[in-house]
Amino acid sequence: MRIVPHWINGGRVEGAGERRLPVWDPATGEQQAAVVAATDAEVRAAVQAALDAQPKWRAASLSRRAEVMFRFRDLVDSGRKEIATLLSAEHGKTVADAAGEVARGLENAEFAAGAPHLLKGGYSEQAATGVDVYSIRQPLGVVAGITPFNFPAMVPMWMFCNALVAGNAFVLKPSEKDPSVSLLLADLLRRAGLPDGAFNVVQGDKSAVDALIADPDVRALSFVGSTPVARAIYEAGTRAGKRVQALGGAKNHMVVLPDADVDAAADAAVSAGYGSAGERCMAVSVVVAVGSAGDALVPAIASRLGKIRVGPASDPDAEMGPLITREHRDRVASYLSAGELVVDGRDHPATDGPGFFLGPSLVDNVDVGSTLYTDEIFGPVLSVVRVETYDEALKLVNDNPYGNGTAIFTRDGGAARRFQYDAVCGMVGVNVPIPVPVAYYSFGGWKASLFGDLHMYGPEGLQFYTRTKVVTSRWPTEPPKIKSETTSEVD
Ligand code: NAD
Repeated sequence: MRIVPHWINGGRVEGAGERRLPVWDPATGEQQAAVVAATDAEVRAAVQAALDAQPKWRAASLSRRAEVMFRFRDLVDSGRKEIATLLSAEHGKTVADAAGEVARGLENAEFAAGAPHLLKGGYSEQAATGVDVYSIRQPLGVVAGITPFNFPAMVPMWMFCNALVAGNAFVLKPSEKDPSVSLLLADLLRRAGLPDGAFNVVQGDKSAVDALIADPDVRALSFVGSTPVARAIYEAGTRAGKRVQALGGAKNHMVVLPDADVDAAADAAVSAGYGSAGERCMAVSVVVAVGSAGDALVPAIASRLGKIRVGPASDPDAEMGPLITREHRDRVASYLSAGELVVDGRDHPATDGPGFFLGPSLVDNVDVGSTLYTDEIFGPVLSVVRVETYDEALKLVNDNPYGNGTAIFTRDGGAARRFQYDAVCGMVGVNVPIPVPVAYYSFGGWKASLFGDLHMYGPEGLQFYTRTKVVTSRWPTEPPKIKSETTSEVD
């Protein structure tokens, strides 16, 4: 059995712990590797390596740090296929989808390579007579990232590109379900010239996270995952005096007004609802059909579902892969026993094999009191809720405890503008179903989708990984004393 190691102080380290966690091949249902959960001593060794490396890395000039990011960017760019193939083998998403993930991650390396501009401080000359005041941004020290299974390359890159370029050292605790790609990224950072110890990976689950929270040398935690864990890590981390940003789950609503282009809305609902088998925090899981919109939209979505090719990542024509584990697939399928099923994914032929497959499912007239509506299902299940008015649709979006993303489909610019103004949600799409911001904006939800104040990546990411120091300075103002050949004595 292949054992996935840690990455500490610039190289692979075999885990010494006793607890082994399975890494499945979701397409075959077989175990392909195991992760040895990091012991407290191994977590400490990773933090210590980061602590030792950070002062030297911080002392590297901004242009040197940016240069490492440029090189890393080039290595990821030329390794796209290898990274995508490795991650889809453990995650199960199609290679094309995985390549899209790598491309979105790459944007963060590109942003970070230009970050010196955003790390500039401010300067006020003559704040008082002879006194100047200026602010500088300094790194926090050792920071840690805890990431979910659904984007094993992109989400770590959301975090470590900015953290590193700002002069921090980083410890990553990736998802135990698809841990291998983190080691490939670590090796690319090494090859890009990052000093040993500035980036480390500890494998494991809650116990490794608890050790990071308990370690006083870890100054900040970035977390992405489900809401209950995000909340717990935010509370425990802040109690331990750390800076924490914890992004949680979602229930993203796509509002479709009666004037929307039905084909465009149906295409968008299908790609946003079933892409990556619905295992995306920005997946659309609820279509809110306003007025007559549902009458044409539901059949248009249903007619597209039969054409989605469900299969393993190794099939280059597959459009949707399996779910991450058998338990998760069974949990998602269990929601299909309620509601008006238009398409039932449990009947899909892909479910006959041993892999963790479930076909795309569509449920109409979903009751907003049912768990189908209230739970984050995180699978290829799209619920349609029908309402009469825009106001009812908006109320659903705003009353929902989650506030990650939402979208409106309409031809009416005024309605779209009103929606953008009214929606209580961190990211809004107008005729765009998955409004993930580009890397030079920041990503984050509201309400139970984010605990903390600063969003992830982009300018807010740099803010998160730095702290401001303000210097008030006075120097003597006499004219300079210069010795010259024509003056025998100046004083
Ligand atoms: P998860 O919360 O189960 O796990 C996330 C990470 O936390 C993993 O590294 C895991 O090992 C660790 N973890 C799990 N339980 C823990 C505990 N009790 N204490 C400490 N650490 C723990 O999430 P997941 O199943 O890997 O990912 C799917 C979830 O992530 C979904 O809810 C999805 O919406 C969310 N997500 C959110 C975003 C976002 O940007 N808001 C992005 C991607 C995924």
